[in-house]
Amino acid sequence: MELPKRFTLCFGDGIGPEITQSVLKILEASGVPLSYDIIEVGEKLYRRGITSGIDDSSWEVLLKNRFFLKAPITTPQGGGYKSLNVTIRKTLGLFANIRPCQAYAPFVKTRHPQMDLIIIRENEEDLYAGIEYRQTPDVYQCLKLITRSGSEKIIRFAYEFARQRGRKRISCFTKDNIMKLTDGLFHQLFDSIGQEYPELQKDHYIIDIGAARLADSPERFDVIVTLNLYGDIISDIAAQIAGSVGLAGSANVGSHGSMYEAVHGSAPDIAGQNRANPSGLLMAAVFMLNDMGWSQYATLIENAWKKTIEDGIHTPDIKGEMTRKMVSTTEMTQAIIDRLGEEPQQLPTSRPSTHSQSLRDFSNLVQSSCSENRPCEINDGPIRECVGVDVFIYEPTSQAHQIAARMLPILNDLGYELVMISNRGVKVWPHGRLETHCVDHWRCRLMKKNKQNAIRLGQLLESLENHGWDIIKTENLYHYDGKPGYSLGQGQ
Ligand code: NAD
Repeated sequence: MELPKRFTLCFGDGIGPEITQSVLKILEASGVPLSYDIIEVGEKLYRRGITSGIDDSSWEVLLKNRFFLKAPITTPQGGGYKSLNVTIRKTLGLFANIRPCQAYAPFVKTRHPQMDLIIIRENEEDLYAGIEYRQTPDVYQCLKLITRSGSEKIIRFAYEFARQRGRKRISCFTKDNIMKLTDGLFHQLFDSIGQEYPELQKDHYIIDIGAARLADSPERFDVIVTLNLYGDIISDIAAQIAGSVGLAGSANVGSHGSMYEAVHGSAPDIAGQNRANPSGLLMAAVFMLNDMGWSQYATLIENAWKKTIEDGIHTPDIKGEMTRKMVSTTEMTQAIIDRLGEEPQQLPTSRPSTHSQSLRDFSNLVQSSCSENRPCEINDGPIRECVGVDVFIYEPTSQAHQIAARMLPILNDLGYELVMISNRGVKVWPHGRLETHCVDHWRCRLMKKNKQNAIRLGQLLESLENHGWDIIKTENLYHYDGKPGYSLGQGQ
């Protein structure tokens, strides 16, 4: 099969152009027969008023080439700009983010010389859905969206990855002691899909203690699979304790393409100073070459890079006892080029990939075995029955018992029972506590009195509004096969 010959490239912001030039020089010196198309994304487009940071012509290039080497981008804070990274990952369906975190001891200082782990992060869901609202003058909301199909996809991917790459243990990090439905689903799928992988050791950690253990003794971990936000945070911790955030590369894969980038950001504090470490983006490029099938070049570059690190040729961010010469970005680039063809003496020598499947092959395999491609199963799924509705209201001046007293007579006539009022998730009626701090945003849980009756939301809302209630939103309460598909209020 003919290997891909072209990839898409962007120079990024901050240190992006410096480290991209470095990587291009090394790729060229390696002789890999690749060319590229440059797209302009990020800060310059944001400044032109394109809030997405990317224009239509770039999408065409990305879809044509499928492989994208992306330098870090600055996302302006505030002002409604959307993160370009998140937009690209989600638009192209790059559902898996793979972040290896490896120590290069003793050449790069770390307290964890044995560290060699891979974080597989769900890339499309969670709080990164970016659905946020200011619902009242006081209350802001960000929706955490977790799907069964998305969770199944990333968990299967992680198991397949661990199996294919000969890894021994896989750990799942969630916060399902608090988020029982969303994180609970992820944990439950990790356990059930895990039965198909008996050769792998498995464990689950609540994210807080998991992160603490990871920071303290990362050697105990091998492959970690987790949700989007947790994965983002723990992969920076892991990259930092491995030696530097400047060293790690990562891949984002899906069936419509893949994007390779450094774990770090655009480092505006050192931009233009010729002191950025190009290693993170170089390792991302190595990842890409392996995935494209150009493994011999990936190996050539990785070994030259390891030899450079072993020789103590270091940028300032990894300066330590083993540094023999502290160098600029351009000097490091030249040192790597000078060592093409050499192998490290102490760090493990890289060998051309013998993996029968690239990350993108995995992603296709996983997608085809996931239930989202089997709509019949979803249609034959659980029986869904609407049993009530949570009505969220804005009420800045009343107490919970006053709200209940005003609402109860109206609901009685409409065939609903008010079973609970909560404020910021905690039950405040009936039997609330005076100590609970309440804001202007209340959730009133209404259950149907007669199960046979349909929920007539329009009628309910009209009636409440006619009685002067300021309704923010509603959320239907469903039972699935008779089990609640909603959480109880804290204290309910
Ligand atoms: P950052 O990773 O850019 O910088 C954190 C620290 O690490 C800084 O002190 C920086 O100098 C240092 N550092 C990072 N990369 C380095 C390298 N290659 N060599 C030497 N030192 C390096 O994180 P930040 O400061 O929080 O974010 C800066 C900008 O980057 C923000 O606009 C953020 O939105 C963006 N960002 C982009 C990406 C991406 O494009 N994938 C990822 C994270 C952050």
